[in-house]
Amino acid sequence: MSPTLADFGHGYLLERGRPAIGSRPLLVILAEYTDDGTGEWPSIASLHPREYYDGLAFGTPTPPFSTSDPINPGSLTQYFRECSSGRFTPTRAQGGGLIGPFIMGPFPNPDPGLEVTAQQVITAAGRAFPDVFIGTDTDLNRDVTADELLILIIHNFTGYGPGNRANAPATVTKHAPLVPDEQVTVTVLVAGDGTETPFYQIAHELSHSLGTIDLYGSGNENQLPTLMSSYSFTSDNQVPVHLDAWHKIALGWCEPRIQQLRASAAPIIVGEISAQRPDGAVILWDPSRWTGEYFILERRTPTGVNQAYDSGVSGDGLLIWRFRAGEVPVVTHLGAPDGEPGGNGVWRPGQSFVLPWNDQTSTSIELTFAAAGNDIEVSFGARQPALIVPRPTRLIYASSNDGRGVIGDIDRGGNLHDLVVLEPGTFKPDWTHIVGIGADRILYYSATDGRGVIGSLPSVNKLDDLRAVPPGTFATDWTSIISLGNDRILYYSATDGRGVIGSIDAGNNLHDLAVILLRCRHPQRHASSHQRPHLALELRQGRGHGQQDQDDQAPDVRPRWLRPATKARHLAPCVTGSQNSRQSPLNPHERPFTGVLGRHPRSASGRGRCFISFFSLGGPPFPLALT
Ligand SMILES: [Zn+2]
Repeated sequence: MSPTLADFGHGYLLERGRPAIGSRPLLVILAEYTDDGTGEWPSIASLHPREYYDGLAFGTPTPPFSTSDPINPGSLTQYFRECSSGRFTPTRAQGGGLIGPFIMGPFPNPDPGLEVTAQQVITAAGRAFPDVFIGTDTDLNRDVTADELLILIIHNFTGYGPGNRANAPATVTKHAPLVPDEQVTVTVLVAGDGTETPFYQIAHELSHSLGTIDLYGSGNENQLPTLMSSYSFTSDNQVPVHLDAWHKIALGWCEPRIQQLRASAAPIIVGEISAQRPDGAVILWDPSRWTGEYFILERRTPTGVNQAYDSGVSGDGLLIWRFRAGEVPVVTHLGAPDGEPGGNGVWRPGQSFVLPWNDQTSTSIELTFAAAGNDIEVSFGARQPALIVPRPTRLIYASSNDGRGVIGDIDRGGNLHDLVVLEPGTFKPDWTHIVGIGADRILYYSATDGRGVIGSLPSVNKLDDLRAVPPGTFATDWTSIISLGNDRILYYSATDGRGVIGSIDAGNNLHDLAVILLRCRHPQRHASSHQRPHLALELRQGRGHGQQDQDDQAPDVRPRWLRPATKARHLAPCVTGSQNSRQSPLNPHERPFTGVLGRHPRSASGRGRCFISFFSLGGPPFPLALT
């Protein structure tokens, strides 16, 4: 027995119960805010003529696409038509589909968010053209909803952070002589973009109105294998990329073949998904995981047959997607050549790969790729990987004598190399621990005064300081600090056998998550202390009164290492309001933990009893093995 396509979520992305099949009117509204002289609000016409936006929404251009000279932008309607293999095409809304620009006055300060500004823009547009909205209420229930109308608002803001939100309900009233007023309430999902937003982002935000979910947040963020990753906000270019096979399945736009993952399976051919080959992709599943975790093989190429809108895909070859229920993102690409999650390397003929599960265990099944005309043949075999090292592991050696060091690595074969020699004086001599904490970050800890630094190693020979952690922040008796992966850190004191599990979030903020008392040699040891020695971080109020909170100081934070700035800005505004998004688009580490230090229960040892104790201080659950 095998799961069905429906079991794999075929057609499950709906908007108010309706699939993105057939057509749906698209309304593009140009919104013009007052030019305040900062250069951020030039008029729309000064950057793009009206014909640019008409073409961008409804044109039938021939590649290559270009923003200007000539004006030949990619077309959103054609993008979705091609991506869906002809199953879904947005159409011009009543009145031509492009209205405005509407003069909106100064942009509200503070920004109330796209929910409210979209309500204001729709209200202004509805005052001028009520029929555009009233005519869209096809079910005549006086509510225009996300399944009836797609709205894209272009703001005359060059640096606008693209987003998609449900607008606050907007009322549109039509007054006519001798007949009663007609009125509708417009509450849809609005894609909001600026005058320099590139095609990729405009299509990305508009796709959220169909129920798509973001797939950035792992490794290289799946950039360019799918529209649902991140991209520049302001490049004003026309690079198009298809949605990934998982989204096409979930939107009901293709029907992949389903095959059990078996070493003895016959070779399969993977071809481009198209109207002629809706079964071009292949789902590989295993009885041990059923539909909770599976792989999708997808053929992609920038020069595909009848494919004008995938020219930006990251290569010509095969993509391997791994779906894992509950992960964020729920689908990630395993990039060539080593299967890096979120990687964008495509798999090429001649390569092979042993598929790994999300938990780092191996399927023990090796795929080998070969060319088969324009398709790719995948054959199967049994193989235990000798060593799973996702990519070379970097090492830092540091000497406390003179502060010199070496950056080295362990290659995939397990061999040690020296990469860079660091001069004496590079490191402060009082660091008692230097610990890699994931995402190329490093925690430096001094037991002398409880200070630290969060640094990074963004490239092989470049050490950066990201954030200084003031003296007194850490307890000073940690004898081991160990990275647990996923930004989690174990602090351990050999003095009394206690420990703390902490985290360092994406903003480089330190948190205590759990206190562990494994032994109880000195139950009263800290009971009278004004400090809370059972936390990795000392209490804020334990410091001098004149000292600000760590978060209030002007920290040496250079967050650009996390992602290029354009991508980092993508995160906040791009949370879709779709009710159908079953996954949170936010990475859990980007959510602030609620269990802040001040709310921690009283110190466990202060109770004067011996026990093994585990206090969760908030944050997502994680496994903990006490041996
Ligand atoms: Zn998004």
